Formats: sequence, structure tokens, C-alpha cells
Amino acid sequence: MNNDRSRALYDRALSVLPGGVNSSVRATLPHPVFVDHGDGGHVIDADGNRYVDWVMGYGPLLYGHDVPEPVTAAIQSAAADGPMYGVPTEIEVEHAEFIARHVPSVEQVRFVNSGTEATVSAVRLARGHTGRDKIVVMQGGYHGAQESTLVEGEPGAQVPSTAGVPEEFAEHTLPVPFNDPDAAREVFDDHGDDIAAVLVEPILANSGIVMPVDGYHETLRELCDEHGSLLVFDEVITGFRVGGLGCAQGKLGVTPDLTTFGKIVGGGFPVGAIGGRADVMEGFTPAGDVFQAGTFSGHPVAMAAGKAYLEYAAEHDVYEHVNELGRRLREGITDICAEQAPTYTVVGTDSLFKTVFTREGPIGGDLETCCPAGCTQDPDCPRYDYCPKTGADVARAETDRWERVFRQEMTDQGILLTGNQFESQFVSYAHTEADVEETLEAYKHAL
Ligand code: PMP
Repeated sequence: MNNDRSRALYDRALSVLPGGVNSSVRATLPHPVFVDHGDGGHVIDADGNRYVDWVMGYGPLLYGHDVPEPVTAAIQSAAADGPMYGVPTEIEVEHAEFIARHVPSVEQVRFVNSGTEATVSAVRLARGHTGRDKIVVMQGGYHGAQESTLVEGEPGAQVPSTAGVPEEFAEHTLPVPFNDPDAAREVFDDHGDDIAAVLVEPILANSGIVMPVDGYHETLRELCDEHGSLLVFDEVITGFRVGGLGCAQGKLGVTPDLTTFGKIVGGGFPVGAIGGRADVMEGFTPAGDVFQAGTFSGHPVAMAAGKAYLEYAAEHDVYEHVNELGRRLREGITDICAEQAPTYTVVGTDSLFKTVFTREGPIGGDLETCCPAGCTQDPDCPRYDYCPKTGADVARAETDRWERVFRQEMTDQGILLTGNQFESQFVSYAHTEADVEETLEAYKHAL
């Protein structure tokens, strides 16, 4: 495969963009594929090579690269009217109404411009609402590039996970292991009166994909209720993907106080949102006293795209299609792993999938095949003890082999996967059975 133009573009990029990219995860080895354009479930790179694309913008592109006609029409009409105003428009109200209608925990919405901005604002709102400073997060969870959540370690020994974040931020952030109810109880025993919120992805989707064990979120819900803390679900990835229009919270049957959204909610444009109970949401200025603002927030073109995106999903078999192809991918890769790499674990649910290069089982157990429907953390599953339960279980996998060997091998075969072992992969409405077959053939060869 000829990659001369991608390589040359990366050389140029390295001179003017730090690390050659505008988001760290894009700096894949040995150099990124520079995309020229998309086509359905595929992208065509600067050298004219075609790839089956499972990156899908890291989650927003529920329809792939061919946007349905009503969505295109809505985008073009909004853009033709003028890009933005800084004054309210009807489309913001309509988009918020749609979300509130479909996600029972959401009564009000504040739109922002990214998932990061949504979690920044949600944390500030939770702190303002409770008058407390501490937040509990999950080890291996991700909530964007923000000071309060770029923190790692154990409660009591937590530190910033990147240069540039003052220690004082880490002081207020308590990372606990996902799926460990005892660790959650302990952190509330020690700090309950100071905890403003638990901020958690309902499904860890930035650490492989880790499903919650039965009862885990219910425990978090109870602890928050007992201590007057807020439960904040970060559904930036899972929102309007897992569990369809009801989101992961609907699928799991847990009601958070606040939810952060991003990705799909903007239909491929930069949008984030915070949604939740009206009495909490009204803490935001100008209704309340927690300052929040943004020049581009509720951008009419992005609102038009997001609203048309979700409306199309409400009226078509979008989730049936993407979930079915997701199931086939997970099932097919499970069969291939059983033959060729029996320690590896296939994870995911709905339209999310990933292969975690687990070595000898993160927790032990027999090497039987995974649940083809995706990991459900069903205790009766023969691999229950073997399936990752925490971010640390995934971090112990052969992450280097995934990045340095496997992903590159797949790229060479025309299959574009996400940049590292930790990031989920995404099925779109534009993907076909032929894309799944081609991908499984490549897995066979690469594994
Ligand atoms: N929360 C979660 C769960 C995410 O996966 C991400 C991004 N992948 C973010 C927040 C941050 O979103 P953004 O990159 O749009 O700022």
C-alpha cells in the first residue's frame, strides 16, 4: 500500500502542529493515515487507498460518512441562513425538547461545544449545587482534557495524570476502581460529607470497553442518595448509541441526576450537553449562580445536525442495524480468537466493539469463548472471571503489541481501527455485511 502522501503530510504537520496532530490519539504509528474524504462506512486517504472505517470520528458518526438526506438538508438550510447569532434560536429549544422527551432523567439541557466542556460544566454545577469540592471518578475512566479529571492513583495518593495540572486539582478528585462497590463505600465512608458528585461512564468506553457488573451503578446511586451527592453519568460515548435513544442509563435501568452528552448529539459537529433534573440544572446562570457561558453554544448549524440526526434514528431501523453488525463482529472475532489467540477477550455491546489483548486472564479462569453478544458481565458466563472488570485489567493487556503490530497490520489490510488498545470502535448505519466479512478476514490474518 502506497502511503507517500500521508507520510509527506505528516512531515509537514510536524513542523506546524505539535506532534503533527490536533488531538493526541490521532498520532498513530508509524504515521497517521491522512483522510481525503469519506464514503459510507469507508474513508479514502490522501494516497487514494480505501479503508473500512471503524474509527467513525471516535463515536459521533452514527450514519458513517454518508449523511441521510434530511440531515444534509437541515445542515445546509441552517448554514445558508447565516452561521450563528449569539442570540437564541428555535432549533436549540427543539433539540433540548427531543433529548428531554427520550431520556427520562433529563428535564433541562445546557448545550456546549464538546464533551470536555460538558464534563467541566457538570463538575462545576455539582460543586455549586452541593457546596462541596470533591468528586469521585473511576480509575481508567475518561472525561475529556480537563483539570479535575486528569487525575490518577488511589484516594489519598492521587496525582495529576499529566504535566500542567496543579496538585491542588488532584486533591479534590478521588479515583476508585470501576466495578468495586467496596472501594466506593470506603471512599464515601472517608469523604462522604465532602463529595459533590460521582462522575462515571456507565460503561467504561475509553479503557477497552468494560461493562458494569450487576448492581454496581445501583450501589453508586444509593451512596450518592445517602450522602447528598450527585450521580453524574458521562454518556459522551454511550449517549444515543448504547441503549438507543434512551441511552445507556435506560439500558442499565439507573437514573443519574445529571448526564453529560457529546459526539452523536451534535450529528458530527462540535456539540456537548449537560442534562438533568430541573432543580439541579437551574443552578446554571442566569437561572442560578453557577457561571456557565459560551459564544458558540447552541450553534444553529450544529443544533440542526444533531436534531436531524436523532430524529432520523427515531424513525428508522438505525439501532437494529448497527447493533446487529456489532454482534456479528464480536461473534466473528470471538471465533477467530478462540482458534488463534485464546487469551484475548472480545468486549463491547450494541455498536461498540474491541479486542483486548489480555494475556493470561486479568483475574484468572478458564479460556472459553466470550459471550458473542458482547460482554454482559453475566456471572453464569464461563469467562466471567476472565473478562476485564476495571481499567487496570485492560491496562495490563498487551497494549504495546496492539499499537505497534496489530493496528498497523490491520491498516495495511485496509481496515482502520482506533489509535490504541483503550479506545472503542464504532459501527455505523452505513456499514454493511461485506464490511464485516472483510474485517473478519483481516482479523484472521493479523491475529
Ligand atoms: N467523556 C467521555 C466518556 C469521552 O469518551 C470523551 C471523548 N472521547 C469526552 C468526555 C471528551 O469529549 P470531547 O473529546 O468532545 O471533548
